[in-house]
Amino acid sequence: MDSFNGIRLVVLTGAGISAESGVPTFRDAGGLWEGHRVEDVATPEAFELDPVTVQRFYDARRRAVASVAPNPAHHALARLEAELGDDLLVVTQNIDDLHERAGSTRVLHMHGEIGRARCLACEQRSEAPSDLVDEPPCPACGERMLRPDVVWFGEMPYGLDEIDAALVGCERFVAIGTSGAVHPAAGFVLTAGAFGAATLELNLAASEITEFFDESRLGLASDLVPRWVDEVLSGRDSPPAGRATPPPPRA
Ligand code: NAD
Repeated sequence: MDSFNGIRLVVLTGAGISAESGVPTFRDAGGLWEGHRVEDVATPEAFELDPVTVQRFYDARRRAVASVAPNPAHHALARLEAELGDDLLVVTQNIDDLHERAGSTRVLHMHGEIGRARCLACEQRSEAPSDLVDEPPCPACGERMLRPDVVWFGEMPYGLDEIDAALVGCERFVAIGTSGAVHPAAGFVLTAGAFGAATLELNLAASEITEFFDESRLGLASDLVPRWVDEVLSGRDSPPAGRATPPPPRA
């Protein structure tokens, strides 16, 4: 992915798109992620306080993700990419690799990837060699200081400049299976909309940011996403008239 200018369609995905593959979301389970409070497993402070618990938690997530398969929503987005190529960018908050396993290649993991590790000694990012609780050596420098390559609460997501460039230039922004509770992703609809994009939400239930979308469709991702992709590919999903206005100047 060399250029983020000229992308016409930006799709943001959240935990909801992987729910039907058997990867639990956490908002739907009363704010718990696999029985854990987010503050206990998904913050730098938690890692400092109890690295073994945090490593075990992500080792278990890595194994769980390896045992599930993409669902029709992931496959539909891969089908869309096969037709649109560089006109499409998928930005995902998910740390699973179900988009890639369905065949998508233009995927930006803004919250990192569970299958990868980051070395706290040399900062190199690499494929996780094994369970990180076993302290395997970093493939780059040999130090035994690998952490999951996921973005924890309070840390800076990956690719924000590239995402901003894509949002500012796109014609269409679609959010799938995301609660709108996690920032900065929750604000992407406002950026895209302010710069003239038509915006659509596909979600099981109204999200916290439904009001900011031009259109919201409620239902299962495995149903809504393939149907929407069919609309795009048959030309029935053109942005509403009047949306393609020139973007306002940036502050
Ligand atoms: P979230 O858990 O906050 O919200 C999930 C959203 O998906 C909800 O709005 C819910 O209504 C919707 N949803 C649930 N099932 C659905 C279905 N079958 N079809 C369509 N929509 C459905 O998720 P989030 O907004 O992505 O934020 C959670 C954070 O937690 C993310 O940053 C992510 O990194 C992390 N997380 C990732 C995974 C994963 O990688 N699969 C799983 C859990 C949490």
